[in-house]
Amino acid sequence: MIFCNLASGSKGNCSYISSNDTSILVDVGINCKAVEQRAAIVGIDISRVDAIIITHEHIDHMQGVCALSSKYNIPVYIHPSSYYSFVGKVGTEICNLKANSFDRPFDIGSLNINAFRVSHDAAYTQGFTISDGEKSIVMATDLGYLNDNVYKRMQNADYIYIESNYDQSMLFNGKYPKYLQYRIDGKNGHLSNVETSNAIARLYLENGRKRFMLAHLSQNNNTPDVALQTLFSTLGQHNIDVKDIEIAIADQANPSEIITI
Ligand SMILES: [Zn+2]
Ligand SMILES: [Zn+2]
Repeated sequence: MIFCNLASGSKGNCSYISSNDTSILVDVGINCKAVEQRAAIVGIDISRVDAIIITHEHIDHMQGVCALSSKYNIPVYIHPSSYYSFVGKVGTEICNLKANSFDRPFDIGSLNINAFRVSHDAAYTQGFTISDGEKSIVMATDLGYLNDNVYKRMQNADYIYIESNYDQSMLFNGKYPKYLQYRIDGKNGHLSNVETSNAIARLYLENGRKRFMLAHLSQNNNTPDVALQTLFSTLGQHNIDVKDIEIAIADQANPSEIITI
């Protein structure tokens, strides 16, 4: 199974996962042309994508979904609550959306999709465990906190794509209005660098999880350096050798490397 993040952050999110015979996108929050350009950079053929699955209806996860799904005739699986919220905002049912309850795992070709609900301020927000039967990835961005269910998913995953959204002091000393600061920091907002770093340390110590991509970094309240410094200092506090853990950082403007899971 391979994984590639094409975009990550508040200006748009899109990831690609492929097994031998099946390819999917998770979210299309950048425009169709940007998806095509970034896919071309890493050698991904978008015309062969079998399905798109949606975490939630926020615009940074769905901006390009109608154009892309219409152009390539790709079905889009979306939770009914997200569906109605999105259609309500956009005004009309304009693309290939298929409301899907995600209440039990299902297959798209040889990939198994197992959704789990997370705490976030959309109509409905979910993360995914995606498996090809041998290996699995857990994808969890846009969540206010890591509950036990999400954490258990990560304990068993071969690769973990996890949000590291903000640095708390940058957030609270920054320009955002107070209500927005509290929204981001709250239980229905996003994960901070500290929360994510603590989870990574625990997942390594208790479960031997070693492969992570930090995702959805805020452009205003975080930087890759700050996120990494926080992580490295947390690992240091637990006497974990940084070299034992594989860390990538998903970028807003560029595709990641193709990662073999
Ligand atoms: Zn988002
Ligand atoms: Zn969101």
